[in-house]
Amino acid sequence: MEEKKEQPSRLLNDDARKILVETFKGLKRPITLEVYVKDSVNIPYNQLAIRFVRELSEIDPRIVGRFFSIDDERAKKNNVSRTPSVLLDPDHYDIRYTGAPAGEEGRSFIEAILMVSRDESGLSAKAKKTLASLREKRHIQVFVTTTCPYCPNEVVNAFRCAIERPDLISAECIESAENIDLARKYNVGSVPQTVINGKTISIGMQTEEMFINGLMTLEPQQMPAQQAAVRDEFVGEFDLIIIGAGPAGLTAAIYAARSGLKTILLEKSVPGGQASLTPLVENWPGMQRIPGKQLMDLMVQHAKQYAHIHEGEEVKEIKIGKKIEVVTNDGRYLGNAVIIATGATHKKLGVDGEDRLYGKGVSYCATCDAFFYKGRNVIVVGGGNTALTDALYLDSIGAKVTIVHRRNEFRAEKALIDSVTARKINIIWNTEVVEILGDRYVQGIRVRDTGTGKERKIDADAVFIAIGETPMSEIASSIGIKTDDSGFIIVDKEQRTNIPRVYAAGDVTGGVRQIVTAVGAGAVAALTAFSDLAKWKRQG
Ligand SMILES: Cc1cc2nc3c(=O)[nH]c(=O)nc-3n(C[C@H](O)[C@H](O)[C@H](O)COP(=O)(O)OP(=O)(O)OC[C@H]3O[C@@H](n4cnc5c(N)ncnc54)[C@H](O)[C@@H]3O)c2cc1C
Repeated sequence: MEEKKEQPSRLLNDDARKILVETFKGLKRPITLEVYVKDSVNIPYNQLAIRFVRELSEIDPRIVGRFFSIDDERAKKNNVSRTPSVLLDPDHYDIRYTGAPAGEEGRSFIEAILMVSRDESGLSAKAKKTLASLREKRHIQVFVTTTCPYCPNEVVNAFRCAIERPDLISAECIESAENIDLARKYNVGSVPQTVINGKTISIGMQTEEMFINGLMTLEPQQMPAQQAAVRDEFVGEFDLIIIGAGPAGLTAAIYAARSGLKTILLEKSVPGGQASLTPLVENWPGMQRIPGKQLMDLMVQHAKQYAHIHEGEEVKEIKIGKKIEVVTNDGRYLGNAVIIATGATHKKLGVDGEDRLYGKGVSYCATCDAFFYKGRNVIVVGGGNTALTDALYLDSIGAKVTIVHRRNEFRAEKALIDSVTARKINIIWNTEVVEILGDRYVQGIRVRDTGTGKERKIDADAVFIAIGETPMSEIASSIGIKTDDSGFIIVDKEQRTNIPRVYAAGDVTGGVRQIVTAVGAGAVAALTAFSDLAKWKRQG
């Protein structure tokens, strides 16, 4: 009888392989991936990097894997000293992964392979023009964790720049867990953290415009919301202006443009919305499981077939008149109708120290930043599903967790409460956080007992805030659009607000806040806008 040989299990299952076969049809020329390892250090990650590159080469022979010891002459030539390191086409570019391109970074790796093989950065014309004026060298280091859904976008920004100006720009994605010494050197406490020429430029995901600004000026970048600049340049006139390119806004754009409305979509960050940060979506009908980013990339591509999306444009003001004027950080737009699809964001505590210590122990993303607090004291603030999920995740990676909750019971699913109880996670009830303490890093919190009013300090190395979501409805309420007590925009069954020709859809209107409901509401809002505008035009 023939003896069966045991096959090593594959990293990529059949579904992933099928998707990659299709994806790699977009390769333009062969690409070399060079993997460098040192046998005695980071062994599982070395093996992971080698297997991943081997499996990609099997899927498409135009991907050529080459494997070297870190002691090889070629490692010296390419300035490689860390294991594993994966270099993409090092004869033409200086683009590398310091650490295995695993977990969430699998996405940026595949995108980088395509970009390099096409020798096309995919940057906007404006960004290319700015980068053309760069005269000095830049080395970009983006610190990531494999569980951070925000990180691949930042890595792709860095790689795009290195592809655009290979003469001056090198870019490196650094996996923090495999390079703890480097992460400590740059005080990484929250990812993505972008360091350029040795200086921390940003913590968090940036738009292309912010990224390029930071690269050119080497000055730390602020989120657009904090940027004062508003450009008064007239951009154009449209039937419909949609604010926000999440599931609701993207769907509204598809429906509106297909109805014949001249439509523009304004997005303050990158298109995709909250859904693109979800590692795995398991309730989108027709797909049993799909990574949130992948689902949203499909929606973005679809919407782009019909309407322009202006990224990095934050709507600052809406002025109601016969024509509705929409003012962004980059210009002025006129429209006959507006759909507000600005979604929701994590709530802040609003206490001293919260903003100052963000990225230095204050975090809103446990999956991104938990790694940095293994074995350390962390506080989770909140009592709902997210807070309990975060607490369990932090506990599972070995952090010493305390939940601080302002009520005397949780508002979460029973299964989560049972797990928190079973894990014996420390809970402080009836207590609210009044200050986050620390000079350069979080050192603790000051809390108040909601019953007695007594205050005390608790030592901690990090504070994970999970106290729910808040609608992004300020621009709406500032023009008199009615909202409920929690700030969610009130709409009728056809998504009309109380102001004629202004509609709202998705999470910003509250209710069931899911992708399917946002998509449905976006479609209804667009169709209502279409029929209302037809009547409005007839009435002159
Ligand atoms: C961690 C996480 C996991 C989730 N998992 C699931 C899941 O598995 N299944 C599911 O169905 N749902 C899930 N959700 C919920 C789902 O992501 C949301 O319901 C959905 O994204 C809402 O879509 P939206 O278009 O209304 O808003 P959003 O997705 O929030 O998009 C709004 C967009 O508007 C932009 N914007 C905001 N203000 C402005 C402005 N002033 N100017 C220009 N642009 C602006 C934002 O940058 C954003 O891109 C999850 C949410 C999170 C946070």
